Amino acid sequence: MIEFEHVTKVYETQNDENVALEDVNLQIDDGEFVFVLGHSGAGKSTFLKLILLEEKCTEGTVIINGQDLTRLKRRKIPYMRRQMGVVFQDFRLIPTMTAYENVAFAMRVTNIPTRQIKKRVPYVLGLVGLGDKMDRLPDELSGGEQQRVALARALAHSPKLIIADEPTGNIDPEMSFEMMELLSAINSVGITVVVVTHEHELVHRFNKRVVTIDHGHIVSDTAHPEVAEAY
Ligand code: ADP
Ligand code: ADP
Repeated sequence: MIEFEHVTKVYETQNDENVALEDVNLQIDDGEFVFVLGHSGAGKSTFLKLILLEEKCTEGTVIINGQDLTRLKRRKIPYMRRQMGVVFQDFRLIPTMTAYENVAFAMRVTNIPTRQIKKRVPYVLGLVGLGDKMDRLPDELSGGEQQRVALARALAHSPKLIIADEPTGNIDPEMSFEMMELLSAINSVGITVVVVTHEHELVHRFNKRVVTIDHGHIVSDTAHPEVAEAY
C-alpha cells in the first residue's frame, strides 16, 4: 500500500524554491491499478522519486507497505526498494548483455542464489513473451521488446508493486497497448501497478483509476475515466 499524507516537496535551487508537490494526500491499496496523469512539470517524477526513495519529502509522510519512509534507516533503503519493480522510460538495459543476462544480473547483485536465478529468469522472460529471444542483445530487439525485458527484470524479484514511468514514451502506439495489456495481466494476479504518464489518450482506453496531478496538486482522482469526462 502507498500512502501520501500532506506531502510537500520543495526543491531548493541557488536563488529560488520550486514547489514540485504541495499538500498531496493519496492512498493506493494493494492490488490496485492506477494511472498518475499530468503534464510536463506537474510533479509526476517527483511523486515517483519519493516512492522510490530517490528524494525525501519536505513536509508530510510517505508510507509504503506500512513503513514510514521519512523515518526509514538508511541501511533499510535497499530492502524497501527490492519490494518494488520499476520500468523506466528509457528501459536502462545494459547494452552488452543479452535479455537473459540483463535480468539475471539484476538478480545477482541482490545475492539471489544462482539456482533460483536460473529458474526465475526464463520464467519471467516467458511471462512477457520473450521466451524465444532470451539470447538477444538489446539492440537486436524492438523498442517494445526491450521494454518487456525491462518489465521482466522488474518482475524478477517478485515485487508487490510495479511502477511504470511513461511506458509509452519510447514505443509505438500498438506496442503501448500491448504493454498496458501485460501490466493489466500482471495486476490481475494481485500485483499493484502504478503507471505514470502524460498521455490522456492512453488513460482513456483503459477503464482504471486515474489520479491527475497539476502544478503539484491532485486535481482529480476518479475510479473510471469515462465518469471524469462526463463532468
Ligand atoms: P513531471 O515529472 O510531471 O514533469 P517533475 O516532478 O519533474 O514533473 O517537476 C515538478 C516541478 O519541480 C517542476 O517545476 C520542476 O521544474 C521542478 N523540479 C523537479 N526536479 C527539480 C530539481 N532537482 N531541482 C529543482 N526543481 C526541480
Ligand atoms: P554461472 O551460474 O556459473 O554463471 P550459468 O551456466 O548459469 O553459469 O551461465 C553461464 C552464462 O550463460 C551466464 O552469463 C548466464 O547469464 C548465461 N545463461 C545461462 N542460461 C542462459 C539462457 N537460457 N539463455 C541465455 N543465457 C543464459
